[in-house]
Amino acid sequence: MSQATTYKSELVGVFGHPVAENPTIVMQEAAFKAAGLNWRYLTIEVYPQDLAAAMNGLRAMNMQGINLTIPHKVEVLNYLDRVAPDAALIGAVNTVRREGDLLIGENTDGKGFLRSLTRDAQLDPAGKRVVILGAGGAARAISVELALAGAEHITIVNRSVARGETLANLLNTKTQTPASLVIWNSAYKIPANTDIVVNATSIGLYPDVEAKPDIEYNSLTAAMCVCDVIPNPPRTPFLREAAARGATTLDGLGMLVYQGAIGFKMWTGVDAPVKVMYQALKEVFG
Ligand code: NDP
Repeated sequence: MSQATTYKSELVGVFGHPVAENPTIVMQEAAFKAAGLNWRYLTIEVYPQDLAAAMNGLRAMNMQGINLTIPHKVEVLNYLDRVAPDAALIGAVNTVRREGDLLIGENTDGKGFLRSLTRDAQLDPAGKRVVILGAGGAARAISVELALAGAEHITIVNRSVARGETLANLLNTKTQTPASLVIWNSAYKIPANTDIVVNATSIGLYPDVEAKPDIEYNSLTAAMCVCDVIPNPPRTPFLREAAARGATTLDGLGMLVYQGAIGFKMWTGVDAPVKVMYQALKEVFG
């Protein structure tokens, strides 16, 4: 046995319910392998009533961190030692990392979106006007990060009034970016001065792959960057409509890879092999 040999793997993973179809293991394990790290990513079914015990288990087993998915992203706030300022604003944590004995809550969803925007579309959101379709968890994470990055104005377009108001109020009271709310009850016309449009609803997600958000598609222009959070399938009808009008498009697969890459770096301290992660997920989604 060489001096460097160790039989102990560092452990991370995801707590969720249901969780069996969560593909994150594929990209993180591919990344650990490519980076030569003896780390393992475990997909773990945790029922809602068992989250406290699971978080104690994470501490007891000295796991290096965890991802949280449905239904734990908000509840986990009760079991952390600290929460990053942007995750606290968003009100949800999707990644826990360890700092010594402390468990720190982070939210990498919006950060992943931002990285996709700045790296893949080479677009700095500072001073830009944004339209976000949806006001759920993904919309909250994306709009908070865009506001913190200096977006000029954000319009939230949402079907349910209460959720839309909560998000618009959050942006108006807790960030420097003014926000307005449009109640979404008919085809929405994207204002001509919009720079960035984001579908942050679940419309278009597999298996409902022909569904697309109810907007006036002729209001999309070549001057806009049009983005979708849907990772599967990456090429949604919404993005196809935007591309047909000459817009720059960004898919949800990029966001998913980058949020995982940011988590990978938080956990391991090593720059993530983004291309390897992208390829691994692309194979999963066919
Ligand atoms: P939520 O359930 O929290 O929010 C869903 C949002 O979509 C709500 O605003 C809801 O409106 C709206 N919505 C759903 N169906 C319709 C419809 N038919 N018409 C109008 N509005 C609709 O979900 P999340 O925000 O957590 O997730 C949204 C999507 O984002 C999912 O598909 C998920 O896969 C994706 N996602 C992608 C990530 C990535 O890395 N690519 C990361 C995280 C999420 P209302 O309030 O009126 O109900």
